[in-house]
Amino acid sequence: VAKGDGKRRWRRYEASVHTAIVERLELRAALARAVSDRTFTLDYQPIVVMGSGAILGFEALVRWRHPTLGFVPPAEFIAIAEETGLIEAIGDWVLHEAVRAVAGWRQIRAGRATPYVSVNVSAHQLRAAGFVDKVSTALTAAGVDPSGVMLEITESALLRDDDRAWAELAALRRIGVRVAIDDFGTGFSSLSYLQRMPVDVLKIDRSFTSTISGSPRQRALVEAIVGLAGTLGLEVIAEGVESRVERDLLGDLGCPYGQGFLFSRPLAGAAAKSLLRGPTAVVPPVRSALPGRS
Ligand code: C2E
Ligand code: MG
Ligand code: MG
Ligand code: MG
Repeated sequence: VAKGDGKRRWRRYEASVHTAIVERLELRAALARAVSDRTFTLDYQPIVVMGSGAILGFEALVRWRHPTLGFVPPAEFIAIAEETGLIEAIGDWVLHEAVRAVAGWRQIRAGRATPYVSVNVSAHQLRAAGFVDKVSTALTAAGVDPSGVMLEITESALLRDDDRAWAELAALRRIGVRVAIDDFGTGFSSLSYLQRMPVDVLKIDRSFTSTISGSPRQRALVEAIVGLAGTLGLEVIAEGVESRVERDLLGDLGCPYGQGFLFSRPLAGAAAKSLLRGPTAVVPPVRSALPGRS
């Protein structure tokens, strides 16, 4: 890296690597403290019928506020948690909190609708012993029926350690928990794998949604994904829907369900509850999710 013009540049390189390592170590230590202090929260983003805005459920998204750095994006701290094994404790907390939340929602909507919570699960959690028991214990404790929970596994995680993870997911599906492939289209699932994966739902990655309005080729790709899902008997949900144009195109291509800033940003627990307390539990598209977009 730092060869060529000598010592000064090398030293600068060394210093920046050093800083990065120290920062990472500090972040690790802070994350470990956060795990023991339980200083995480969950936000909930509505998953809707795009045509009407009717709420089907919410995706639970973990939030961590570092004492001095402020909110650290989950993409960053989940990666550290996976490296350090902290993901198991964080994942357990997320699962319990999410199941508790859905119990509350179902009380609010009693007799009118049965919203579900969709929980992101990392490959490490599936690999650890007893995941199926953890899920069913959480459900029983909260008095929630298994249809109240969907688990999201990224396509790449599903492909990385198939045997063990697939067996756990299959067992969960047998008790009635639904499973979604998250970020679909970013991994490399073969058709024969897809056909055998123990899943119910396919979530189309945001990278497809965000390019759909600009390119006929992307539209054709999304149409192919929707067709494939139909053939395999899977439900499709589009991620990252930010504009009415995207929503309408997705509808035309046969994708009825979605989530994204057009409908709602991830919400604090209280805000999610008050949406459900409304007479219809609908999120109308916001006027402009993004500046300059229709
Ligand atoms: P994901 O599961 O694909 O979650 C969707 C991400 O897209 C969320 O980011 C959400 O805030 C964001 N998003 C939703 N709608 C829009 C939109 O219209 N436009 C844009 N630009 N973004 C949108 P977030 O909350 O930062 O989470 C990032 C990732 O971190 C998640 O991606 C998931 O992989 C991971 N993650 C979050 N919570 C958990 C958790 O509890 N456990 C695990 N294992 N991973 C989690
Ligand atoms: Mg997800
Ligand atoms: Mg996703
Ligand atoms: Mg995604």
